Amino acid sequence: MQKVKLPKKVDPFKSAIQRSIYEGVMLATDMQRFSAAVCEVLDDIAISVKFDTDVQGLTYFEGKLQTRASLICQRCNDSFVHSIDVRFCFCPVRSEDVEDEIPEIYDPVEVDELGEVDLLGLFEDELILTLPIVAMHKDEDCAMKGSDMSYGDIEPEESKPNPFAVLKELKRNQE
Ligand SMILES: [Zn+2]
Repeated sequence: MQKVKLPKKVDPFKSAIQRSIYEGVMLATDMQRFSAAVCEVLDDIAISVKFDTDVQGLTYFEGKLQTRASLICQRCNDSFVHSIDVRFCFCPVRSEDVEDEIPEIYDPVEVDELGEVDLLGLFEDELILTLPIVAMHKDEDCAMKGSDMSYGDIEPEESKPNPFAVLKELKRNQE
């Protein structure tokens, strides 16, 4: 099957009027930042996205991104395959729009001076955001599972830095 390459930029307002649906791919090689954030991007990014207008008359576009990347396990230093399947729902806004009026189900995304959205950059950001803070095998798959490391210095859950911990610390210092 021929894979259709998605446009890197679109006018979401026009696309919504036409109720456009895109099914296709973006090339992993076009996503330098994402490629740099992982060991290797294993598949081109499969994308489906639908542009439409909701009952309030707001333009939105929603869909999903799927790909696989290999990551390096921080516990045993071996690579493993990380599957990504992320859904998104964006509401394009012009810079003069008031973002407060956008319902919470949408993530606002600003259009450029031509009224276009940088789909490539936007989707690349989404992919990067899904990556684990600390890449690690599932316990049962990891070469370092069990004895040595179970009480070692990296515990899967607690190794994720809690963003609020820093705030708490700051607050405590002020008191
Ligand atoms: Zn491992």
